[in-house]
Amino acid sequence: MKPAPFAYAKARSVAHAIELLGQDEARLLAGGQSLMPALNMRLSSPKLLIDLNGIAGLDGITRRNGQIEIGAMVRHVQAERSPDIAQHAPLIALAMPHIAHPAIRNRGTIGGSIALADPATELPACLLALGGEVDVCGPQGERTVKADDFFKDLFETALGPHDVLTAIRVPAATPATRVGFAEFARRQGDYAMVGLAACAHADGNALRDVRLAFFGVAPTAIRMRDAEAALTGPIDDKHIDNAVAALDLSPSDDLQATGAAKKHLAGVLLRRVARQLAEPRR
Ligand code: FAD
Repeated sequence: MKPAPFAYAKARSVAHAIELLGQDEARLLAGGQSLMPALNMRLSSPKLLIDLNGIAGLDGITRRNGQIEIGAMVRHVQAERSPDIAQHAPLIALAMPHIAHPAIRNRGTIGGSIALADPATELPACLLALGGEVDVCGPQGERTVKADDFFKDLFETALGPHDVLTAIRVPAATPATRVGFAEFARRQGDYAMVGLAACAHADGNALRDVRLAFFGVAPTAIRMRDAEAALTGPIDDKHIDNAVAALDLSPSDDLQATGAAKKHLAGVLLRRVARQLAEPRR
């Protein structure tokens, strides 16, 4: 199918994009890897597409004040190949190869993934697990939203209709940082049936500040706080069993699996990721 007719405007700056968003039924275009299929299938019919690709300054990866800042227009492939991300945001580095296929990673952007907030995708869960932040620019100026407050419901975020996501920020890893990532997908590159991104701090042989963010099992990426508490402490079979027992998930049946199967898989992933958290980073 072909999309319904739309007008096109290339934004010169974030301020210009926000101004254009004031027009009726306008949508931002980043990598187009999710938006264009939606337009082609006529799941969405905006009157105006506002192209973010010409805006300077949205495609940087910088380390500042103990954080790694990733600009909204950083392509997935850029993040995947970034030595700074590999060293200072290793959870994101672990997740990147699971995102779609190389052709999609060449165009898709970090900002597009976070703004879309597809519940079966990797990056919202990574942002949540890392306790990251989202920088937003809107008609009222700039603001920062914590990941814990950003993902509201299915494809719904703290972004308003006239807001542009400009960057995400995550704490830079320290020698004590432990990360883990695992997902089940039918084929490499497919959306995950169930996935888990995790971060913790090592304290001797114990874990503290455990954050477990599951994806594919709820309308948004979701933290399992009881399981986080159960995993806090020494990493041994008892703590891992208790964490799995504390998982409070009720995934819906979908075309790929029953809710019961997904819940079982979530427990399997948690056991794998807990073992990853036990390993110091190399
Ligand atoms: P676009 O498609 O351009 O935009 C997506 C949405 O976000 C639109 O509503 C747009 O208006 C909005 N938006 C974009 N940028 C901003 C911004 N800066 N501020 C505010 N709103 C903004 N993704 C995964 O994570 N994991 C996968 O396994 C995966 N598999 C895929 C498989 C296929 C076959 C396809 C086609 C896509 C897949 N994707 C997957 C999606 C891909 O990663 C997209 O790149 C991503 O979801 C959206 O990024 P984009 O830059 O292409 O955004």
